[in-house]
Amino acid sequence: MVTISERFDSLGFDGTPARLGIMGGTFDPIHIGHLACAEQVWQQLGLDGVLFVPTGRPPFKAHRNVSPGEDRLAMCALAIADNQHFDVSSIEIDRPGPTYTIDTLRALRAYYPPWVEFSFITGADALENILRWHEREELASLASFVGVTRPGTVLEPSFFEELRASGFSVELIEVTALALSSSYLRDRVAQDKTIRYLTRTAVIKYIIEQGLYHD
Ligand code: NAP
Repeated sequence: MVTISERFDSLGFDGTPARLGIMGGTFDPIHIGHLACAEQVWQQLGLDGVLFVPTGRPPFKAHRNVSPGEDRLAMCALAIADNQHFDVSSIEIDRPGPTYTIDTLRALRAYYPPWVEFSFITGADALENILRWHEREELASLASFVGVTRPGTVLEPSFFEELRASGFSVELIEVTALALSSSYLRDRVAQDKTIRYLTRTAVIKYIIEQGLYHD
């Protein structure tokens, strides 16, 4: 039975220390920027794998209709299927109520042996709000945090000092600049503009079949 993810459920259970990347995001839809970023962080940090965790009900996104979790999960699964060191987890989609990262990290910590470490990967701009996230003291104790930046992104050093002073282990990783965002893809689909080569072909097929992003 799958508990967290099909590919990584046995990680660390043979006693070997391991480091799992947790790629948190709304992924509405997933695109090549997310995939390239996860791949580059995986290699740079020598991670054992990267688990994509699409958010269930993002607490800060009440202002817009986020696509159903089942669709965002299905698109992630299609996008990562051919990469053996990537997998996707439905733990946030399956959990009722607003999605808080703390609950996800607690579930992962309860499942994996203590010698499996977690690195939570997300956009550096999303990380800028981390001090406002739910139960931040425990959050800081459960994972290290990786903010991905594009070349040229400037973040105030004082921000990192504040994060570290609050107990967070944070590092920034610069990844290839791809001026892409999920909202850009959604807008293009809504305007009947091609998104070919901006995400995986199977994801595009899914978007068309399910009629996503057309109001
Ligand atoms: P967001 O605000 O939609 O994203 C901010 C920026 O970061 C966007 O440019 C976005 O690009 C990019 N981004 C998001 N996820 C990324 C990833 N994994 N890798 C690279 N770039 C990424 O962020 P979000 O998706 O809502 O939240 C990101 C993660 O933080 C989620 O796991 C969420 O659950 C968590 N979070 C937790 C709390 C909490 O616990 N209180 C609060 C907020 C967020 P795209 O639009 O192209 O993705």
